[in-house]
Amino acid sequence: MRTTADVVEGVRRYAAVVQEQRQRLIDLDAAIGDADHGENMARGLAACVEQLATEPPASPSAALKSVATTLMRKVGGASGPLYGTAFLRASTAVGDKDELEPADVAAALTAARDGIVARGKAEPGDKTMVDAWTPAVEAAGAALEAGGDTAQVLRAAADAALAGAEATVPLVARKGRASYLGERSAGHQDPGATSTALLLAVLAAVAE
Ligand code: ADP
Ligand code: MG
Ligand code: MG
Repeated sequence: MRTTADVVEGVRRYAAVVQEQRQRLIDLDAAIGDADHGENMARGLAACVEQLATEPPASPSAALKSVATTLMRKVGGASGPLYGTAFLRASTAVGDKDELEPADVAAALTAARDGIVARGKAEPGDKTMVDAWTPAVEAAGAALEAGGDTAQVLRAAADAALAGAEATVPLVARKGRASYLGERSAGHQDPGATSTALLLAVLAAVAE
């Protein structure tokens, strides 16, 4: 996750993983939402891959911005604007560098999480994607402080995001559609936290 090509490869692989996991994300959203998260994400990411091929980005920042605008344009529901904001903030955070350092990657993750929180107003524990992003950002910061390289920073983030997503199971949703279910939302893993864990796992794998 250093160069423009790495970012593009990350998006391509994420699109493939989401396509593979489409039904699982649909099933998770069927339990506590409206059963469209897998479809929303698969369609949006396919459009991102197409757009990156049609207009190849000249920098990591441009690649992240391309993804942001495509997601905002193509993905309805809560997740389009939230992931769109995340990628847009990440695009700004990395500036005009051609090669990203570990600190840039950690800053991009922090900016992405902050954008999601600014947009969706969810707090940790509300059973949303923030429950995957927040521990991921904290773990990435700790890995960076410990002198980790980009792969180590992203691996720490990915592992923490997965644990955070799994920890949404017992929570009662306080934001998004799942909150309409009240106590009945407990006992299911949050779809957006799950797609976030998949994203970070893919980025870590690309960096390794
Ligand atoms: P919709 O709920 O509009 O159908 P999706 O199914 O694509 O959209 O996405 C649902 C996911 O969006 C949830 O699982 C949750 O992680 C996330 N989400 C919903 N509302 C918020 C919010 N206010 N802040 C953060 N994440 C949210
Ligand atoms: Mg949904
Ligand atoms: Mg929906």
